[in-house]
Amino acid sequence: MLITCPYCGPRDVSEFTYQGDGNRQRPAPATKDLGAWNEYVYDRINPAGDHNEIWQHSSGCRMHIHVVRNTLTHEITDTRPARGGHPASRHHGAKS
Ligand SMILES: [Zn+2]
Repeated sequence: MLITCPYCGPRDVSEFTYQGDGNRQRPAPATKDLGAWNEYVYDRINPAGDHNEIWQHSSGCRMHIHVVRNTLTHEITDTRPARGGHPASRHHGAKS
C-alpha cells in the first residue's frame, strides 16, 4: 500500500505510523462536560467505507497528515497536511 505524503510524494505504508481517528475534536481543556470527554476518549465511528485518519510519516519527514482511507478496500483517496483545518466537514463516515 502506498501513501502519498504531501511533502515527500508516494511512499510505502511501512514508512508511516497510524496516529488515530481524524474525526475526533478535543473538548475545550477547561470544560467539565464529562460526556464530551467520554466521547472524545472512547467513541469511534468505525465506518465501513471512507474514514478520516491521522498518520505520521515517521520514517520520512515526520510530518502528520490527514488520510482518507476506505476501510473495506484500503484505497486512499485523499492526503493532505494535518495543519490547516479539520477534515470532518468533507468526509464523515461511510459512504451510503
Ligand atoms: Zn513525508
